[in-house]
Amino acid sequence: MAIRDLVTGADNPELRKISREVRIINKHVLTLLDDMKETLHAVQGVGLAAPQVGVLRRIAIVEFGDKYYELINPRILKSSGEAIGEEGCLSVPGVRGKVKRPETITVMYVDRAGKRHREEITGILARVFCHEIDHLDGVLFVDKMIEEAE
Ligand code: ZN
Repeated sequence: MAIRDLVTGADNPELRKISREVRIINKHVLTLLDDMKETLHAVQGVGLAAPQVGVLRRIAIVEFGDKYYELINPRILKSSGEAIGEEGCLSVPGVRGKVKRPETITVMYVDRAGKRHREEITGILARVFCHEIDHLDGVLFVDKMIEEAE
């Protein structure tokens, strides 16, 4: 495993590209997932998307409490409700602000074993999922920020 360099800057074109679907879960994908986990731990974050380490693939990881998710080709199928909460981003250091997100989402993704999952997720965890999935479409939280935190 290895800690990867983070891509930073809200105006960095590398963070604005659309990531490609993963077709085959090969050893490069597995190494990427392992490296992303190590990188997330090193910076003590809750979520990390592949474009944040310079890989334009639809892959993200989320670690929240005792739950750890590896999301390959995640897709939000349904969303409902609204919640405003504060967010920050490893790729936009020094900025935090309020963002409106759905309260509840139904998400589909594939794990490293190729198994398909469909789950309903709510609250802060739904916020983190939405934030990470946005990265795969070149969207940053600052684009949606209602108000910057003091
Ligand atoms: Zn982020």
